[in-house]
Amino acid sequence: MEIVAGITLKSLGPQVWDPVSPYYLPDLKAVMVSYADFHQWPAQRRRSMEQGIHASLGIPKRVKVYLDNGAFYFSARDEQVPIGDYEEFVEKACPDWQPIPRDFIPAPNMTLVEQRWCLNRTMRVNRNYQHNGYVPVAHIGRVLRDYVTRIKGHEQLSAKKAIALGGIVPNLLRAPKALSHKEILDSLKQFRCDFAGKKIHVFGIGGTATIHIARLLRMDSVDSSGWRNRAARGIIQLPGSGERTIAELGSWRGRTLNRMEQNILRQCLCPACQSEGLRGLKATGVGGFRNRATHNLWTLLEEVKWVEGHLAAGTYCEAYKEHLDNTIYRPLIDYLLTPARERR
Ligand SMILES: [Zn+2]
Repeated sequence: MEIVAGITLKSLGPQVWDPVSPYYLPDLKAVMVSYADFHQWPAQRRRSMEQGIHASLGIPKRVKVYLDNGAFYFSARDEQVPIGDYEEFVEKACPDWQPIPRDFIPAPNMTLVEQRWCLNRTMRVNRNYQHNGYVPVAHIGRVLRDYVTRIKGHEQLSAKKAIALGGIVPNLLRAPKALSHKEILDSLKQFRCDFAGKKIHVFGIGGTATIHIARLLRMDSVDSSGWRNRAARGIIQLPGSGERTIAELGSWRGRTLNRMEQNILRQCLCPACQSEGLRGLKATGVGGFRNRATHNLWTLLEEVKWVEGHLAAGTYCEAYKEHLDNTIYRPLIDYLLTPARERR
């Protein structure tokens, strides 16, 4: 499974894709940047259309650049998505992957009627952008089955090689009226079966535990901006789902490191810890942010390797019990590992 690291034009550092950067992560194969960023920085938008998105951001071609349509940004501001600008950008800047220009994201606490409204609007865009490599989008929720039926019933859309899926984290974690976890996981398993052979990308996964879930569901790629967001708040990710506050920044307070966790970090092989150790992770300012962000992304990449290594060796079912600490996602992983005949 490919980890797609969310980046922002506001600050491209740490340049984890750059072999000469002290933060270089050779296992990173893809990044994602939002079109909303290019919308806000017209000069960068122009440069990317002139030079191509890779060259303009200094990202080598072997690292794929995924583009996000920025739907969340535009809808949160009640702004119209500049669809024509997005199309022009895609055509000239040549990202490796791009979704349809606009999708209508349902909130988990929406009524069925409201979720259907989002479905109808998103499906209209899916149909209108069946050409030029645009990836159709579906949303997790009570109408996911309808997405499947409509996409499969459409000749061109059903022939697409890739599909994107949004809404996994809010539905699994936050929303009070969300579906039960079992319903969501069952619908995701079914979605994977319905689109067997297609590359499924899951938008906006959170930390390490959700990576286990996405991998067990056999998704092909997931994106996360958590490595940067957490770093900015002084938080570092530990292997096996834990996150801890290491730098006291602003008013944010979270769980801090105990002695055992400090020892785990002292053995970390990421480039930031190798060069500056715990002191570097605790530092304030840009340097501290870059160290924590690099460490967090490295931990995500290692987590996928850990999961895939154990799945390949047939040892995952036992090993994850020790590896994952007290995460709220643990029962979901248990459920995914339970054979269908034993489920109630
Ligand atoms: Zn580290």
